[in-house]
Amino acid sequence: MVTSIHQLDDGAWVSVNDSREVNVSDLWLLARSDVCSCEPSDFLAEGFVEVSAACGRVEGRIAGQCIACGESGVTGWLELGRADPDTGEFRPVVPASAHVPDRRRRLSRPSASAEPCQ
Ligand SMILES: [Zn+2]
Repeated sequence: MVTSIHQLDDGAWVSVNDSREVNVSDLWLLARSDVCSCEPSDFLAEGFVEVSAACGRVEGRIAGQCIACGESGVTGWLELGRADPDTGEFRPVVPASAHVPDRRRRLSRPSASAEPCQ
């Protein structure tokens, strides 16, 4: 089953398999931030800039603001959750647990890739 993802409402929501799953306005704990030098950074999500899904792994880059220092910007790629490749059921990550944005990135893909899944 191909994981289908879309941004809705100008990036306020990410839909996974036609169901609204991830909303902005969550506070994300980033172990390190691409936006500022706080480690960790408490990052208030304001919008999803890009989303990608490969092999059921749903990732996104989030625009928002570090509430500790006030700097705003866009994060690196963060895992938002995983969709079961068989049932399409989505399991989101917990934003308040520590996340590490990934800068070393393959190109984003708008939909599931043809690469073999691990
Ligand atoms: Zn900061």
